Amino acid sequence: MFEIIKKFQFEAGHQLIHHDGKCQNPHGHSYVLILALQSEELVPSGSKKNMVIDFADISEVVTPMIKEYFDHKWLNDTLETESPTSEYITKWIFEYLQPKLPLLHSVSLQETESSKVIYRMTN
Ligand SMILES: [Zn+2]
Repeated sequence: MFEIIKKFQFEAGHQLIHHDGKCQNPHGHSYVLILALQSEELVPSGSKKNMVIDFADISEVVTPMIKEYFDHKWLNDTLETESPTSEYITKWIFEYLQPKLPLLHSVSLQETESSKVIYRMTN
């Protein structure tokens, strides 16, 4: 089994309206997004021979999503929720990307050095 890992970063703001602590105030994070794709097989021929997927092809799908919904955005608005937690964001990203990246296996999001959420496909 091959696992392909690709990392992205973005800056975004949010607030968790219902939180009983400081997260109810508007604030921002330098998020680190890590995607994992899995496959048993390699491309058999052509320009991608012996790759699972070209790293550039992952970026081609993910970069426009980050630009439209995440980087320097207010996540409460772009994701249309009062509570854009890291849990919510990972599942949102998984569901957004999965049709475009069928080999996607997990989405991990780090909001601080010590806090990270992983949403992964269960099967
Ligand atoms: Zn936060």
